[in-house]
Amino acid sequence: PRDTRTVKDYIRTIVDFPHEGILFRDVTTLFADARGFRMAVDQLLTPYAGERISKVVGLEARGFILGGAVAHQLSVGFVPIRKKGKLPGAVVSEAYALEYGEAVMELHDDALAPGERVLIVDDLLATGGTAAAAIKLCERLGAEIVGCAFVIDLPELGGRKLLEGLGHDVHALTE
Ligand code: IMP
Repeated sequence: PRDTRTVKDYIRTIVDFPHEGILFRDVTTLFADARGFRMAVDQLLTPYAGERISKVVGLEARGFILGGAVAHQLSVGFVPIRKKGKLPGAVVSEAYALEYGEAVMELHDDALAPGERVLIVDDLLATGGTAAAAIKLCERLGAEIVGCAFVIDLPELGGRKLLEGLGHDVHALTE
């Protein structure tokens, strides 16, 4: 019989991780399946067919796995945005609010050239704080954001509204 599983069918939910009351959407089961992983990478790119993209920017850590595969598919380079203190070269930094406290994301200050056309990739969009920080970092180097592509959007957390309100295209494979 034909395999009719969709991307969503490969995603697992872990109860009470990283703490009580949280339903963690786990994409390792999607990445581990050859068919699922290929479907996800292909679908992340579907809306951007015919668009000029010069770099894929992936967000630590699962955005590296997806973004690397997406960049390979497009035959363009991959650029990581990492948590504070992990990148070895000179960086630009952007702080953003978390539920408790704040976090800082960093990008090598020579990783994108002005005018570069960037696709941002991550596994999951929640409040949009991480992606908004990533957009700011890319824009500080003069890059243009072609779109932000996620496997999962949690719409009740408002990330899509935030990013679209900033004028950006949001693409998600499942809610
Ligand atoms: P935001 O900044 O609130 O949009 O949170 C998105 C970031 O948190 C992404 O980098 C996600 O990888 C991570 N994240 C939040 N919740 C989950 C989850 O349930 N599964 C996997 N990643 C998550």
